[in-house]
Amino acid sequence: MRVIGLHADVLVATSRIWQTTCTIVRSAGECFVIDSPVLPDELELLPAVLERAGFRCSGLLATHADWDHLLGRLAFAGAALGVAETTAARLTAEPGAAARELRAFDDEHYVQRSAPLALGQLQALPVPGHCEIGESELELHPADGHTADGMAIWIPWARVLVCGDYLSPVEVPMISAGGSRDGYLATLRRVEPLVDAAAYVVPGHGEMLEGARAAAILREDVNYLAKLPDAELPIARRGERQRAIHADNVQRVRAGS
Ligand SMILES: [Zn+2]
Repeated sequence: MRVIGLHADVLVATSRIWQTTCTIVRSAGECFVIDSPVLPDELELLPAVLERAGFRCSGLLATHADWDHLLGRLAFAGAALGVAETTAARLTAEPGAAARELRAFDDEHYVQRSAPLALGQLQALPVPGHCEIGESELELHPADGHTADGMAIWIPWARVLVCGDYLSPVEVPMISAGGSRDGYLATLRRVEPLVDAAAYVVPGHGEMLEGARAAAILREDVNYLAKLPDAELPIARRGERQRAIHADNVQRVRAGS
């Protein structure tokens, strides 16, 4: 797991699986952990990463309900999990889905964990809205389209955007079950002014991006989505896995998503 400081108050840990990112943000003694790494040793290490930086976890946030972003409780047992109302609705409608999908991943890769995933206490946050942290506030913006739910988190004093599964340098836009091309495009348009103002953008998967590079990916992704089902894959994202995601996108768009 790689850990990088983006600002005195912002750290990003990147998982060895899918380059899933986990952002740690603090203000005046309060600290939230946004999303999570995936592997057991990474989750085990996370409390020590915070401690070494002098941060203490006050709560968890997740950008959306996909299981690989929801594992913070395995590192910080008992912490409350704050999510967008849309994400809370999805988690309530599919109880146990995240735990089941985590088990399927672990089975497939022979991964052992000491405890099963329990999401515990959920706090549904109004989005768009604000979330108080220490002496500051995080801005919460709706971010659906990849899935039916989600939020992007803007850290104003650090000019960092944590956008969930958008603007990835390693993954093409993925229209999952419940997502839609129109929703995805609307989210990209909504976050565009934040991307333009950002020092860094932290995508759900892949390395953190300076604002200008994130803006270039945003333009590439708008172009890709607008041209579906006949779109070509962006040059840097054409591997076998990306072609499989693309094939799913084509199917979903042809089916009306
Ligand atoms: Zn993801």
